[in-house]
Amino acid sequence: MMRMMRVFATNSPLSDDGIARGLSVLRAHVKKLGLKSSVTRDAVAKAALERVGHFTVEDLITDIRKDSTLDVHPATVYRILPLLLDACLIQHSLLANATGARYERLFEREHHDHLICIRCGKVVEFEFEAIELLQRDVAERLGFRLTEHVLELMGECASCTRHEESR
Ligand SMILES: [Zn+2]
Ligand SMILES: [Zn+2]
Repeated sequence: MMRMMRVFATNSPLSDDGIARGLSVLRAHVKKLGLKSSVTRDAVAKAALERVGHFTVEDLITDIRKDSTLDVHPATVYRILPLLLDACLIQHSLLANATGARYERLFEREHHDHLICIRCGKVVEFEFEAIELLQRDVAERLGFRLTEHVLELMGECASCTRHEESR
């Protein structure tokens, strides 16, 4: 039986224990790849795990500069992000029309896609198993090994539609 569609509650912050678990997942992943530990990498991961909601590389840099003396540059963060994506600590999110790449924590959350209101910017997070399956099917048929996907549906939310109709 196919699972129903689920709508997720707003993202809440990860506990300190959760952040520690996330960092150890990353360290294990990095070790498996034969890479050395890195203070900067850990700082980027911690900033990403601490973030609530969707963030940019600039957001991470601002956070890191706020609570450490590390001078981290965008190029460094962009080099580290693939490791965080690989370790399932974060996922990509585009969030329609936003300039620059956006990410969000995935660690101890579940994969989800987004509905975005083009009028008020409201974002609804959902997961619909049928859509997930179809995307895997498309990739398979076209000979792709799927590693990730970003799906965003744009339109007008219920309250913007109601507002429009009452005018
Ligand atoms: Zn999805
Ligand atoms: Zn999201």
